[in-house]
Amino acid sequence: MAYVVTEPCINCKYTNCAAVCPVDAFREGPNFLTIHPDDCIDCDACVPECPVEAIYPDDEVPEKWEHYIELNERLAEQWDEYVINETKDELPNADEWAEKEKSESDIQEEW
Ligand code: SF4
Ligand code: SF4
Repeated sequence: MAYVVTEPCINCKYTNCAAVCPVDAFREGPNFLTIHPDDCIDCDACVPECPVEAIYPDDEVPEKWEHYIELNERLAEQWDEYVINETKDELPNADEWAEKEKSESDIQEEW
């Protein structure tokens, strides 16, 4: 099992979640964070830190976001060198984006 970052995280990146992870499981993309399933130890610490409820255990991911399980795995490999384990400033317009409809096509994959 592992925890998974889902759609509400796109363009937010408040990063409170990454700072509390005891095993540095988070990887950073330009406008999205993922959890590396090989690193996550299912401790649950990141879940209450996320202000937009983007993080779920993989067996509790809402059906509409189930494809994010595979997406986290793929992007965590792609961004493997971009470990993030501290908070940084959120992206500009993060509050505005938190309210918006978005989809995985809004994820910027290339740094
Ligand atoms: S706190 Fe939530 S929205 Fe912010 S970076 Fe972490 S998972 Fe994404
Ligand atoms: S559940 Fe624990 S180990 Fe997994 S990503 Fe969250 S804080 Fe890290």
